[in-house]
Amino acid sequence: MSSSIQKNLASKNAEYASKFTQGDLALPPAKHYLILTCMDARIDPAAAFGINLGDAHVIRNAGASARDALRSIIISQQLLGTKEIILIKHTGCGMLTFSNDDAHSLVKKNLGPSASAEIATLDFLPFTNIDDAIKGDVEYLKRSAAVSDDVIISGWVYEVETGKVRQIV
Ligand SMILES: [Zn+2]
Repeated sequence: MSSSIQKNLASKNAEYASKFTQGDLALPPAKHYLILTCMDARIDPAAAFGINLGDAHVIRNAGASARDALRSIIISQQLLGTKEIILIKHTGCGMLTFSNDDAHSLVKKNLGPSASAEIATLDFLPFTNIDDAIKGDVEYLKRSAAVSDDVIISGWVYEVETGKVRQIV
């Protein structure tokens, strides 16, 4: 029995695939850049950031964390040739609303001691100020020996209230 979410996916995809004509795109992103942004449901990266199919890697995680994304960033750059990083956090991010202690307590309460032990050393990487978090992540990437010095890195805020971006660094 499929869920309504699965049924939606299957029917909308059939519609999409019936008109799909871009099956011959190359694996490496044509414009050689990657965008790192949050998993927030209010962000539509392709539409809001002008990304055409095949142009860029889009890496998403909770809070657009550079540390969390490092594995994907290295793959993007070393195996698939991207040379620029656009980091985009956003207003109203959920990562502003809790602490590591809060997240660990919730896991313990809702999922029990085994889950709590399993993630005992996990840093959820929350932050308290968007601009500072963007500057900190850009600094982290610039300092990282795993990111080449000639990679162009910028940091932006996306406003979920207006759809606008602002460059921070
Ligand atoms: Zn977010």
